[in-house]
Amino acid sequence: MRDAHYEWRCKAITPIWTGDAYQKNGRMIPSGLLGSVRWWFEVLVRGMGGPACDPTDPDSRCPDKHGNRCVVCELFGCTGWARRLQFKIVDSNGQPVQAAIVKDQEFVFHFTPLRPILDEEWALLDLTLRLIADYGAIGGRTVFKPSDERRRENMPQHKDYGLIEITSWPDIKVEERQLRSYLKQSHWRNMDHGDYAWASLDNFWCANGKHLARQNKDDSNFNRVLGRDERKTCKICGDIHDPPNKCPKNNRYPHRHSENLINKNRTNQWIAGDKQESKKVFSFRHPQRTFGFVNPEVIDFSEMKKRLRKAWPDLKDDEFHQGSDLLNDLIRSPGGAP
Ligand SMILES: [Zn+2]
Ligand SMILES: [Zn+2]
Repeated sequence: MRDAHYEWRCKAITPIWTGDAYQKNGRMIPSGLLGSVRWWFEVLVRGMGGPACDPTDPDSRCPDKHGNRCVVCELFGCTGWARRLQFKIVDSNGQPVQAAIVKDQEFVFHFTPLRPILDEEWALLDLTLRLIADYGAIGGRTVFKPSDERRRENMPQHKDYGLIEITSWPDIKVEERQLRSYLKQSHWRNMDHGDYAWASLDNFWCANGKHLARQNKDDSNFNRVLGRDERKTCKICGDIHDPPNKCPKNNRYPHRHSENLINKNRTNQWIAGDKQESKKVFSFRHPQRTFGFVNPEVIDFSEMKKRLRKAWPDLKDDEFHQGSDLLNDLIRSPGGAP
């Protein structure tokens, strides 16, 4: 056990979406970023065989009826169990960051134990932050919420938020075996991950150096991968209205053809997301990165690669990092950005 605080020093490669950064003064909400760290921590824990509830789902969240908790709630807290970490985002002088984080800004994830924290827990946190930096993105957890996507689609530059680089990190060494046995301890809550089982590192993939986007008004390889109609045109009048313009026919924000699925099958519905759910593919242009999830009940990695090759015919197998391979790379390269 350790008592000292731990710091991961970072640089923002893109601005960081903090939930309300688009509003006038862009005040920072650390709880939004903590929510995002927690979300990726859940993904990691599920991928390594441990229990992780969905705290936004009243039917799933901890504690269970026996009063037991999952691995994530143990650290981050839940009803009746205070979190064991204090989480701050500070600048290089240790002052709290008040505004939204801009490109190239240095900032620090600063964690102070409120109660003793095990080496295994620090190691999981370290893996989580490196997963975010090397293969994912950070933002409010709303990055994965459809309502927010809708808002982001109406923003001038909506693609690139939340890419970070870790520039220094604590030296935490825990064997993989030790981590896995920690995650399988018998006192944890016994649970079925149900509808959100897909949000696991087992199902995660990332292609660094690749991005998906719109090519022109009729072609969007992003929409091709999602299974959506590629056309940008307004469903009402057939013209193109870029935000914040409304359609002159009905004076409303336009609904585009690209909101329609090409084929309303379950795979497209799951990947593109519907009103209740987020899409499952995210892409960044500067630097180029595309990541997403598969779902054993809907689409596997090889089918996902086939879809991606409709956008990138030259995609090589070793450019597509997936599930357990990616975990092995993270575990074998402590602190190492690729
Ligand atoms: Zn829980
Ligand atoms: Zn229109």
